[in-house]
Amino acid sequence: MSSPAADANDFRSPHVALLPSSGAGHITPFLRLAASLLSQNCRVTLITSHPIVTQAESNLISSFLSSFPQVTEKQFHILPLDPASAASSKDPFFLQWESIRRSLHLLSSILSSLSPPLDAMVSDITLISSTITITKPLKIPNYVLFPSSAKMFSLASYYSVLSESLSDSTKISEIKIPGIGAIPRSSIPPLLLVPESLFATMFKSNSDILRQFDGIIINTFDQLESKTLKALKTGEVAGGLPPLFNVGLIHHDFESKLGFGGEGAEAVSKWLDAQLAKSVVYVSFGSRTALSREQIRELGEGLVKSGYPFLWVMKDKAVDKEDGEKLEGILGAEMMGEVKEKGIVVKEWVDQVDVLRHNSVGGFVSHCGWNSVVEAAWVGVPVLAWPLHGDQRINGEVVEGSGLGFVGGNWGWIGEVLVKGEEIGRRIKDMMEDEGLRLRAGEIRDEVRKVVGETGDDGLKQLIEKWRA
Ligand code: UDP
Ligand code: UDP
Repeated sequence: MSSPAADANDFRSPHVALLPSSGAGHITPFLRLAASLLSQNCRVTLITSHPIVTQAESNLISSFLSSFPQVTEKQFHILPLDPASAASSKDPFFLQWESIRRSLHLLSSILSSLSPPLDAMVSDITLISSTITITKPLKIPNYVLFPSSAKMFSLASYYSVLSESLSDSTKISEIKIPGIGAIPRSSIPPLLLVPESLFATMFKSNSDILRQFDGIIINTFDQLESKTLKALKTGEVAGGLPPLFNVGLIHHDFESKLGFGGEGAEAVSKWLDAQLAKSVVYVSFGSRTALSREQIRELGEGLVKSGYPFLWVMKDKAVDKEDGEKLEGILGAEMMGEVKEKGIVVKEWVDQVDVLRHNSVGGFVSHCGWNSVVEAAWVGVPVLAWPLHGDQRINGEVVEGSGLGFVGGNWGWIGEVLVKGEEIGRRIKDMMEDEGLRLRAGEIRDEVRKVVGETGDDGLKQLIEKWRA
């Protein structure tokens, strides 16, 4: 029997504030963390930054809040950027990260007024150089949530040691990370090789400050990257880092409450129901990546040539509110006809986890945004990796290394190469016909589910124990 003191401790509900940044790929892991914490008897305050960039993010947040009314939302109204800063990047998400970061001094009064007082705050990696300056004086322990792979984190944590040499980016052929190995120039996020870019500047200041935090939460599994996690935890990669918690942020019970279903969700689900088991190719490049029109048409041709039925989520613009063009205008009447015969194409949000876990889905053509990789592992669906920007080649290497999938080919960063339909179709067939790959993906799913169990993995438990102490 446990002692009365231990019992009292078990029932203490730590109060944690969560501060996501912007982009569905950054908000989703925070919502999953929030749901995991609630299931473990924690109090959660979710700080949402307004105005919100995309409709999908607004929908995710509001559907989450109505499913989990126990969560307290604090709306944080951010300041607009001055014209010079607003001109520093064309990426609406990077600009939003920068606006949130520059507004964070206004968050102090919100944090200090929360009741009961906070036991911890969790900040998105993109904001950490500013959140630390507000939590330090308030003596609130601050944790980083890193929403990408542990391998990408090894680059982020090693970066502060080596960034001097990146200033002459033309000379870099690879980055050798102790305990991890070499990241070839071709896999380094391209904007890191442009030291004056907003992304490179943020990345450096955030990497430099990691050691001032109380802990790092990485949304990953040993089953995907055990060697990397070990090298990070033993300090082989970089010294002086705070404790690292790998937490698989995905869970059976609440998963269906996180999505919001697009308008066409019913049509998609009916269509999937009508397909043979494991026959469908699911194609999506995440929430903020739009291929060129030319590349979209080659992809359409590849899908038709593969011979498999497909569900294709198409994006024509990075921000959904600006994505008004009709499918036919993008594909042209002829291709539209061919595509409609073999598959279903949607230009709206689908609940990806619901799609992936449908029995008819047999393969996933993915850009390897990290959430998509974790979701594919969770459902055991093989991945044909087509990394397009940022951390995605590094994530693609993790996909290949773990056996969950393989990288399609030397297909360049987005816009660099026009990948022909013929080749895309061939690689899709390779994925769909590879029995060994399907078995390995299924093994990963089984192992991951065992680790997460009914109540979350050890990483989550250790984290909450720390906050309860
Ligand atoms: N997503 C979704 N439906 C869509 C597009 C995206 O559910 O139509 C989800 C996807 O499941 C994932 C997140 O949005 O959880 C996208 O994050 P990821 O890291 O995969 O890619 P990003 O959008 O950041 O490039
Ligand atoms: N990242 C980081 N520090 C930063 C900004 C980004 O470590 O200051 C990491 C983060 O893990 C992010 C990845 O770099 O997921 C790639 O960023 P990008 O915007 O290209 O992709 P996203 O994850 O937002 O889809």
